[in-house]
Amino acid sequence: MIAKEFDLVVRGGTIVSPGHSETADVGLRDGRIAQLGGAMTGAAELDARGLLVIPGGIDAHVHLVCGALAAKLAALGEHTVWVDDFWTGSLAALGGGITTVGNMTFALPGESMATAIERDMAGAASEAAADWFLHPVLTPVGDHTVDEIGELAAAGHSSLKVFLSDPRFAPGTPGLADAFAAAGRAGSLTLVHCEDAGILHQAGHDLIESGRGAVRNFPAARPVSAEVAAVDDAIEMARETGASVYIVHLSSAAALDRCRQARASGLPVYVETRPLYLHLTSERFGEPDAGKYVGAPPLRDQADRDALWRGLAAGDIDTVCSDHAPWRLADKLDPALDVVTARQGVADLETLMPMLFSEGVATGRISLDRFVELTSATAARLFGLYPRKGAIAVGSDADLTLWDPQARRVIDGSQMHSRAGYSVYDGVTVQGWPRFVIRRGQLVLADGICTAEPGQGQHARPML
Ligand SMILES: [Zn+2]
Repeated sequence: MIAKEFDLVVRGGTIVSPGHSETADVGLRDGRIAQLGGAMTGAAELDARGLLVIPGGIDAHVHLVCGALAAKLAALGEHTVWVDDFWTGSLAALGGGITTVGNMTFALPGESMATAIERDMAGAASEAAADWFLHPVLTPVGDHTVDEIGELAAAGHSSLKVFLSDPRFAPGTPGLADAFAAAGRAGSLTLVHCEDAGILHQAGHDLIESGRGAVRNFPAARPVSAEVAAVDDAIEMARETGASVYIVHLSSAAALDRCRQARASGLPVYVETRPLYLHLTSERFGEPDAGKYVGAPPLRDQADRDALWRGLAAGDIDTVCSDHAPWRLADKLDPALDVVTARQGVADLETLMPMLFSEGVATGRISLDRFVELTSATAARLFGLYPRKGAIAVGSDADLTLWDPQARRVIDGSQMHSRAGYSVYDGVTVQGWPRFVIRRGQLVLADGICTAEPGQGQHARPML
């Protein structure tokens, strides 16, 4: 009997890597891509004719709550939290063509960032089926913060999340610039939530005091001016400290203009947007279920939406990430909530790539190359994973999504993997859906059936 050369051969698909597209077979061995094109035989084969072979998606911005964290939060009396752990988050990711997720890792009050990272590393190791990396969320700056940022980077956590929307990190906070500078020295990327805490406080409380605190007024509680002010602060931090900054979930034309100017002047400013702003506008807040659409920053106007699509095509925006922050619908629509307390975030891991393909590639707004750059290649470069991930090249991890560009589906969150149980895009017909997903050489999704198991995911350790 002749030994088969490869563990798995993907036959006849159209390989799309930014700048290059060809129809060829792909040979996978030991979890990696071993050969592109040419003769090959495999122990198993997958017919990919008619499908696009693209790198597995990398969603660098998710909020998953591991079992140990949920237990700690429950002990603190906090029972209403984001509802996906690394297992259901992985199912949603793989179901939507994503093989690697970057999770925001929060410390509980009084904990260090390192303690939180340790908990999420253990939680992900037992729960995850997708690969993962973690972003430590900056805790209030103290004597050890600068050292801790360096130590975390050395241990493979070379990114730092900062919430400028949190009054504890308002501009001028002692030590804040030192934290940015420490991240810069460590080669870490600083992820910044850009909404000015002072403007948010004022706008939210003005609405409540004037009797307009209902959730349908959420967009007015978080104006574009708050985003622009904080983007200006983040850019200033990059200028002053030398840190590379990555603006998460950018939502407005005005904020994008500021980033474009900063980039033109040579500053290391990177831009992420999220699907909500590409597909929906603030008109949704006129619907009876306005609370369903709450995310921060809020939905914006059509002109902002158009500007973001132009930014995706032009390369002014680097990544589209889900900011998957899932709640059950009843918790989103809780009538006790107001513009300040509204629960922020939506489930979007499973719909990120199909919606972007359908609304972007199928409509001609963005090219297939841009789709691949926005959903994997650029995130891999920014987060130190390239070319192990985000590329279809010999030696890269065999993370492949075999995309059916003609498939049509009607989005139905009740049939998806997130425990949220609904999608803000319910009822939307999309063109394009992942047919097969391969994670490090293992076929984990075929025609909607996920065969991955908890604990199969691995830490995708950045290479500095
Ligand atoms: Zn987020």
